[in-house]
Amino acid sequence: MSKEVALSWIDENERRIVEISDEIWEFAEVGLLEHKTSKLLSDEIEKNGFSIERGVAGMPTAFVATWGSGHPVIGVLGELDALPGLSQKPVPYREPLKEGAPGHGCGHNIHGTSGMAGAVAVKVAMEELGLPGTVKFYGCPAEETLVGKVWLVRDGYFEGVDAVLSHHPGSANTAGLSSSNAMNSVKFHFYGAASHAAGSPEQGRSALDAAELMNIGVNYMREHVIDKARIHYVIEDGGHQPNVVPPYVRSWYYVRAPEREQVDQIYERVLRIAEGADLMANTTHKVEFLTGCYNEMPSKTLSELVVANMREIGAPEHTEEELEFARELNKSIPPEQKKESLRKSKRPGWEKLLDEYFDDRVLDAWNEGMVSAGSTDVSDISWVTPTMEFGTTCRILGTPGHSWQYTAQTGMSIGHKSLIFASKVIAASALDLMTKPELLKKAQAELKERLAGRVYKPPIPADLKPPLHQLEK
Ligand SMILES: [Zn+2]
Repeated sequence: MSKEVALSWIDENERRIVEISDEIWEFAEVGLLEHKTSKLLSDEIEKNGFSIERGVAGMPTAFVATWGSGHPVIGVLGELDALPGLSQKPVPYREPLKEGAPGHGCGHNIHGTSGMAGAVAVKVAMEELGLPGTVKFYGCPAEETLVGKVWLVRDGYFEGVDAVLSHHPGSANTAGLSSSNAMNSVKFHFYGAASHAAGSPEQGRSALDAAELMNIGVNYMREHVIDKARIHYVIEDGGHQPNVVPPYVRSWYYVRAPEREQVDQIYERVLRIAEGADLMANTTHKVEFLTGCYNEMPSKTLSELVVANMREIGAPEHTEEELEFARELNKSIPPEQKKESLRKSKRPGWEKLLDEYFDDRVLDAWNEGMVSAGSTDVSDISWVTPTMEFGTTCRILGTPGHSWQYTAQTGMSIGHKSLIFASKVIAASALDLMTKPELLKKAQAELKERLAGRVYKPPIPADLKPPLHQLEK
C-alpha cells in the first residue's frame, strides 16, 4: 500500500523529476563547485517538506535534508558533480554542448535526482499512512575526487542512520555485491633552486629531477606490491621553460588497493621514495594529503531487497527511437572494446549480448568477491551502516564510463527512463526498510559479520579540511 502511494507520486511528478535531472545535466558543475545543482536539489526537497542543513561538513555545496522523526532512519544519497572536458550534446556523435566544458559523463545528474525524488516519494507515503521513522537525503559533493562523503562520515552525519540506499546509473539493472579499491589521494610539492639551465646549472637544484626520480622509484616498486594495487600520477606543474632549472614542481598521486590497510602500507613506501628522491636531487618537499577512502562493504540483504523491488516494478524497455540512437552511438564504440567490457563485467550470459545494445534484464547480483579497480566514497558509509548502491541500465553496452558517449545518454530519454525507474526502486526499497524491522536487523547483522571486528577509522586526519583550495589551482 505504502509503495503504491510512493510510486504513483513518482508517476504524477515524472515530468518535474526529468526536468530537474536535465537542468543539472546542463549545469554540469565539477566537484565542490556544484552550487546551482546543490541549490536546485535542496530547494526542491525543502519545498516538499524536508528541513535542510546547508553547507555541512565544511563544504558549501553539501547538504542534509530530513523529514520525520525517530527510528528507523533511512538515508538516501545523491551525487552532484560532473566531470571536466566531457561536455556533449544529447546526440549520438561527438559534439560538445560547450567546447572544453564539463559534462555529466558519470550520470550524477540522474544520481542526485533519483535520490531526491525517491526520498520525497517515501515521505509522501509515510505521511499519508502515518508511518513512523525518518528519511534523510544527502546532497554529496565531489564524488569524483573522493571528497564529499568521507567528510560527511568523519563529521558524524551518518551516526544513527539504520541503512543507506543509493543509485548509480550503469549498464545493468542490478544491485551489485562487488567491492571497490580503497585509496589515498596526495600531492607532492618539490622545492629546488632556479638557475640558468645552460649558463649556471651547477647553481640550480631541479625540483623536476626530484619528481621524476620519485616516479622512477615508484615504478620500480610496482613489481613488489600486490597485483591488485593501482598507483597512478600526473605532474601538475612541471616547471616553466627548459632554460630555467625548475625550482618548483608538483605531482599528484593516487594509491589504490582492495583493502584500506594495504593502501596504508603502500602509501608509507611511496612517502619514503619521495624522501629518497630529495636525497638524490638535493631538494626538499612537502606532502599534501588530500583525501582517502575505504573499500566498499557489500550487503547481500539489501541487494536481494533492491532486486526484488526492481522485478516488482519492472525494468523499462527501449523504444524504436532509442534503439536508433543506440545504433548510431554504437558506431563510435569499437566492437572489441564492447566485447572486453562485457567479458570484464562477468555478467551472466554476456556472450549473448554482443549484438544487443541494451541489457534490459533485472539481474541477481553475480559479482560477490569481485573488486572493481575504481574507488568511491560511498564505501566509507558502507563501513558504518548497511549501504547499497544499485545500478540501472542507462547506457548502451560497451559505453566507457566517464566518456562523451555517456554524457549524451544521461541527457536524453535513455537516461530519463533509468532515472524514473531508479527513483521508484529507491522509494519501494526504503519503504520496505521502514516497515520491516527484521530486514534492517538482518542487514545490520550481515555488516557486523563482514566487518569481523574491524572498526572504521576515518582515512583523513581529524582536523583536515575539505580541499576547497584545490579549486583555485
Ligand atoms: Zn559516478
